[in-house]
Amino acid sequence: MAHPATPQSAPPPVAKHFIVPSIANKGQGMRAVRLLRAGERILVEDPILLLRTSTSADQFVREELTETTTRVSDTVRSLYNRDNARYQTFRKLHTNPRSTPSTPQLTDYARENLSRFFTNAIWFPSVARIVAVPGAPDSQPAFAVMKDMSRTNHSCRPNATIHWNANLQSEGFFNNVKGRATLHAMRDIPAGEEITISYNRPQAFDPGLKRRITLQLRWGFLCTCPACYGSDVPQSELSRAELTTLGRQLIEYTKANPQYTAHDHSKKVIDAVHRMMQLMREEGIMDDILISV
Ligand SMILES: [Zn+2]
Repeated sequence: MAHPATPQSAPPPVAKHFIVPSIANKGQGMRAVRLLRAGERILVEDPILLLRTSTSADQFVREELTETTTRVSDTVRSLYNRDNARYQTFRKLHTNPRSTPSTPQLTDYARENLSRFFTNAIWFPSVARIVAVPGAPDSQPAFAVMKDMSRTNHSCRPNATIHWNANLQSEGFFNNVKGRATLHAMRDIPAGEEITISYNRPQAFDPGLKRRITLQLRWGFLCTCPACYGSDVPQSELSRAELTTLGRQLIEYTKANPQYTAHDHSKKVIDAVHRMMQLMREEGIMDDILISV
């Protein structure tokens, strides 16, 4: 008796926590398929592409465009030569031409790759190396493009957050990268709700207009999240303005008191931090951003 035909390739793994459907006006996105609890890890993933930088994400995009264009092109070409399966995965990712910085003469192919890269790249402030490279830091900022995680859409009031976890072991040796990217729920996410992250965490306290301009310029879309559009906007604007003021006061206090340390018990500092935590919780932006204040 003949055996049934062997499939050419294994079926794709079943994603337990999320699906990647098309979402109106947003290309693709991620939706919870069951209740996700606050703190739950939704996804862990290795990058398809990784590009280390020595500058902030903004500087990399805006001030080093010629070099950026060359480096993105080189990285994609190297992927094409080295790992065709991963290259094909990259080529299937959504592209928003408006997310591409205005560039000098480029071939259509180069422009498309640049656009795909900037539509999907997530910036991580610190990605470590497994093997030290002479003359290079042990860890540095990097843009990473991921097959699923890169499809997560933005909200100025996100319900999830992305981080680089250097303690996780990559499933395959990739580009001397130590660790993997993780996506965690920041609050309970009911089944069916879209999973969202913030693309511009450093700007979380900025007023809506400024956030929307940045998102439009850098990622090419108009944000219609609950903090940008609808009845919550006035309260959101007040809360973020107060967060900006408190953050500034904390920085000024630190400068005026050089002896200040993280263990300082000054009532003024503690009160300000508690108020900021309360506002951030109410505003739905409780994240590691407080650490950087
Ligand atoms: Zn928004």
